[in-house]
Amino acid sequence: MVKAIVGANWGDEGKGKITDTLAKESDIIVRFQGGANAGHTIVNDYGKFALHTLPSGVFYGHTTSIIGNGVALDIPKLIHEIDEIVSKGVPKPKILVSDRAQIVMPYHILFDTYEEARLAGKSFGSTKSGIAPFYSDKYAKIGFQVNELFDEKNLKEKLERVLVQKNVLLEHLYHQPVLKAEELFDTMMEYREMIAPYVCDTSAYLYQAVKEGKNILLEGQLGSLKDPDHGIYPMVTSSSTLAGYGAIGAGIPPYEIQKVITVCKAYSSAVGAGAFVSEIFGEEADELRRRGGDGGEYGATTGRPRRMGWFDCVASKYGCRIQGTTDVAFTVLDVLGYLDEIPVCTGYEIDGTVTTEFPTTGLLEKAKPVLEVLPGWKCDIRGIKAYEELPENCRNYIEFIEERIGFPITIISNGPSRDDIIHVK
Ligand code: GDP
Repeated sequence: MVKAIVGANWGDEGKGKITDTLAKESDIIVRFQGGANAGHTIVNDYGKFALHTLPSGVFYGHTTSIIGNGVALDIPKLIHEIDEIVSKGVPKPKILVSDRAQIVMPYHILFDTYEEARLAGKSFGSTKSGIAPFYSDKYAKIGFQVNELFDEKNLKEKLERVLVQKNVLLEHLYHQPVLKAEELFDTMMEYREMIAPYVCDTSAYLYQAVKEGKNILLEGQLGSLKDPDHGIYPMVTSSSTLAGYGAIGAGIPPYEIQKVITVCKAYSSAVGAGAFVSEIFGEEADELRRRGGDGGEYGATTGRPRRMGWFDCVASKYGCRIQGTTDVAFTVLDVLGYLDEIPVCTGYEIDGTVTTEFPTTGLLEKAKPVLEVLPGWKCDIRGIKAYEELPENCRNYIEFIEERIGFPITIISNGPSRDDIIHVK
């Protein structure tokens, strides 16, 4: 059975924790999109880890971790991440990297940095990991697949060809030093040595695994609202964050994805620029940020403070619908235990009309939140294992949201560790 674990919102919903928990019963975990620009935070017996490229299943001895063809593969970062977890005592994981995955080139990171600087105040809030330039090149058909590292002659020629264009931009748009093909070729040879032990035809591997009935998890990065088609364009990421793309980015038949587990956090957070209707500010936001997640809501990759807001039923209903949700995992619920009352955004007011449908970006910018206030439960719910044992106000909060988003909440996460999980029957 193939399950996808994806986000309903802006990312940081706690997908890593849910993947890590479900990985226990899985054989294979696949990353199918995105790159090292976002991260998952995972807390387990080995410690606390921020993963950027590795799937959140690497901590179990029995799983195979796959970097699918859809991923923006930053080779030095991947190798660094493997070394880091191994140095903290995690048994060396079994990792396979698609021979069709494309490589984040050193100049992608440069271009990302230079472009953000050029746009200055109008920038996208990129993490400068090279993701936008990487996917631009992929679709402009001047990207480099991993398999190309093994054909030196063609690689050399292609590097020279591509650099003609890159150097024009470096010199005339960004006023930066130009790149030399020979140096880049040497770097590619270093990359080849690093990645060679992991490279294979992962779609063939997965095809066989699906036939054998293996349990496979597709792990998404970011969330619905960052999808380039269905999200808050242009304040989106550069690869599709939707479960449907899992079929493409992993190379498996679309009809094999039988479960889409969409992760929703019990309140909202976002990073980067863009409309965020239920956003809160000042001391109210600071307190939620401080108490949020596991040790505060700060970016796993950048350490940036996240923007905070109340749960947004409009965005989450849409986010779940566009994912094709079969199950909702509702996370970080324990954090809200300090609040006397919990506001929830149940509608958007746009030009005097209230809607519960998520609008396109221009209208979204004008939307004002319609808030309903629910009573808090004022206690610590960590450690609770059964749904019925949750305080009544807490269950009411869950059921209120379930009704508004229109998809069943079947998993509740009430703490950062693997065991802080409640399966709703
Ligand atoms: P992801 O990118 O969707 O995996 O999300 P992140 O890992 O960036 O953010 C989730 C944060 O919340 C991490 O610090 C997790 O350890 C933490 N977390 C996940 N689930 C829970 C939960 O149920 N309760 C608490 N308190 N923290 C959680």
